[in-house]
Order: sequence, then structure tokens, then C-alpha cells
Amino acid sequence: MSQLQSLRGMVDLLPEQTRHWQNVEAVAREHFRRAGLEEIRTPLLEVTDLFARGIGEATDVVGKEMYSFLDRGERSCTLRPEGTASVVRAAIQHGLLSQGVQKLWYSGPMFRYERPQAGRQRQFHQIGVECLGASSARSDVETIALAWDLLADLGLTGLTLELNTLGTADDRKAYRNTLVSWLEERSDQLDADSQKRLTSNPLRILDSKNPTTQALLNDAPTLQAALSADSASRFEEVQRLLAQLSIPFTHNTRLVRGLDYYGHTAFEITSQQLGAQATVCGGGRYDGLVQQLGGPATPAVGWALGMERLLLMLDSHVNTAPDVYLVNRGDQAETAALGLARALRNAGLAVELDGSGAAFGKQFKRADRSGAPLALVLGDGEVTQGLVRVKPLLGEGEEQSLPWRDPAMDLPELLKSLGCH
Ligand code: ATP
Ligand code: MG
Repeated sequence: MSQLQSLRGMVDLLPEQTRHWQNVEAVAREHFRRAGLEEIRTPLLEVTDLFARGIGEATDVVGKEMYSFLDRGERSCTLRPEGTASVVRAAIQHGLLSQGVQKLWYSGPMFRYERPQAGRQRQFHQIGVECLGASSARSDVETIALAWDLLADLGLTGLTLELNTLGTADDRKAYRNTLVSWLEERSDQLDADSQKRLTSNPLRILDSKNPTTQALLNDAPTLQAALSADSASRFEEVQRLLAQLSIPFTHNTRLVRGLDYYGHTAFEITSQQLGAQATVCGGGRYDGLVQQLGGPATPAVGWALGMERLLLMLDSHVNTAPDVYLVNRGDQAETAALGLARALRNAGLAVELDGSGAAFGKQFKRADRSGAPLALVLGDGEVTQGLVRVKPLLGEGEEQSLPWRDPAMDLPELLKSLGCH
């Protein structure tokens, strides 16, 4: 029988990886806590219409990347390709928007039918932030700073904040006309996808990954020139505030993001470490989305970072060593060790219980390899005496014996004195 495999682009996370994921998640949670954000969890499956209306029919995501199917009740359902539309749907559905500014974060799997490669999967994971109800340039910068500081705290280097403004819907309408007439004169130089977008969604062409199209776009008119005075001064303020926080950025006039709901501030955080898939975090302002999904007019700003890309850049070491390694051998000792391990675990210690019944020498080798600072040694002799031997595995400490029936009292202290717990 052939071996069953996971689907293409859907990746298992084994313990070697999950320990790094948990570390990133813990750091992110702490940053969100300090910034007053609360977690929201929405279903993985939504009605297809949510994304069609929210993200835009002419985007790559909706046009060709969604996992959509009819359920048994003939409803068109889609595995979420991103988090923002779901968060906004939930906020509208549960009336959160009448309760003041909502500062929310989420994390979890997203699904896009893309060509798998390094940093690009079909099930991938995002951590994201949505700030619903805040309209100021200050809230843009506060939100960007949260992403920037989180990535820095995780130890990432070589990061660039690319910033742009997409102006208002009116600014974009004016610019669209300029751009389309400029591109139409050169349409023979555009890739096939971009030619189609000339009518459906011309601004998307700026996001083309095709090298020839990208080269052509170097000389294209920019949205900058079409900005209203208000939009331009808003963008000035965002830049001024970023400078004030000493967050370095470059103005990328071509940055438009892959989803249609953005306006005003748009940004990406990229890394030189990531090769072709350079963007680790992307986001911006999306003032029109809440209303577009049937809610009250609500300004909003947010971002999402890609966990897989983030982890490709992290060269971290996570300590998974237990506090103690429990070496035990002999009929009585093995039974006693079971109870001792349980008592120590309930007292808060991480205990590796050797369950092999192997010779002491072998168990000690494993204890050394485990990285535990202490080995506890229990043989039938020790059980008879009511003692457990405590043997430091790291550093210079002396071996000593403790009464084993109540070692939970002494061990945490002992570990602390060795600087281990
Ligand atoms: P790209 O241009 O690389 O396709 P995107 O603009 O489609 O990215 P967003 O929708 O803004 O990406 O998602 C935010 C982040 O999620 C990206 O910056 C990236 O880190 C991550 N991401 C997006 N798609 C994938 C994927 N298929 N596999 C892994 N990570 C992804
Ligand atoms: Mg994409």
C-alpha cells in the first residue's frame, strides 16, 4: 500500500519546530498584552462571499488562490485566506464596533492555493493585528511600531520598513486614469496577467512580480502626484511620527499590497535574508472595509506577519532541557520514581523520568545528554534508606542526598541555588 502523505504545500510542524513557534507566539502575546490588545478567534471556514466582497474579486487571492467548495447544504464556503475580513465580520456581527476602539490580535492557519516554495505554502500561518475605530496618523504609527518592535525583539536584523500611501478612493480614481493611459501606450510590454488587469484592476499591476513589467513600471507615473492635499499632509505626518520614534523607513511609491481594501498608509517589512519571498509583514489602513462588509463606517489599520517566513530568519536557541533527570533502577525504586516524578511535576518542575530500567551507566549518559542541570538517582538501596541522591550534571556542585518522600520541598530551592530554576 502506498504511504499516505500530507497535501502539497501543507506542512507538519514537528517538535523541533514547534518549540520555536511557541517561543515566537509567547513573545508576540507579551507585546500585544503591553499594547492593550486582546485576542480574537474566528472560524477557519467562512462564506465565500465574505472574501469576494472584502478582499476584492480582481485580486490574486480571490481570483485564483482560494480553497472554496460547496458544503452539504450547497453553500459556497472558503477556508480563510487571510484574517482581516473574518475579524471585521465578527466585529460587525457581535456589535463590537459600538463599544469604542477595538484593538485585536489573532493567529492561526490561512489557506491559499499557491505554488509552494521556500516561504510560500498552501497552509501557512499568520499573526495579525487589527485596530478598528482609530483614524489618526498616530494610530498608524503606533500599529507599525508594534510590528517593528516585535520583530526586533525576536532578534531579526536586516529589516526594512517600506512605506507608501494609497490616498483616498478619489485619489486612486484620478491616478487610475493616468496610469491606464500610460500603460495602454505600452501594453505590448506587459505580461498577460497585467494586460487583463488594465481593465479589471489596474493598480494591481504595480504589484506584479513579473520582472519585465516591474522594469517598465520604474518610469510609470506615481500615485504621489495624484494625491489630494489632505492625503499628502496625512502621509507627511505618518513619516514625521515614524522619524520621531527613530523607526527607519523607505518610501516605496510602487507598494500597493495584494488586497484591495487598503487606502492611505500601506507598509511592508522586508528582510534581505528572505530572497524572493522578502516580505515578512504587511499591512496598512483600510477605512472602507467595515462599511463594505455591511458595518458602520469605521476607520481601521492593521497588519499580518507570516510565521513561516519569520521562522526562516530566526536562528534561535530554545532551551527544552528538563529541570531534573530522574535515574531509577530496581523494583521498588521504579515504583517510587513514578510517584516522585509526579510529585515534582505537580510542584512545578520539568522532570524527565527514565522509563527504560536500563543499567545506571546508560541512564546517566542519557541524563547528561538531556541538558538537565540535576540528576536524581533512586535505586532500591536509596528507597530503603528513604533518600534520593541529587547529582549536579552541570558546574561544580557536590552530590548530596535528600529525603525522597518530600523532596518537592527542597528541590526547587536547590535548583534555585544552582541558578537553574
Ligand atoms: P506575497 O506578495 O508574498 O504573496 P501577500 O501580499 O500575498 O504576500 P499578505 O496577504 O499581505 O501577503 O499576507 C501577509 C504576510 O503573510 C506576508 O507578508 C507573508 O509573510 C505571509 N504570507 C502570505 N502568503 C503566504 C504563503 N502562501 N505562504 C507563507 N506565507 C505567506
Ligand atoms: Mg500573495
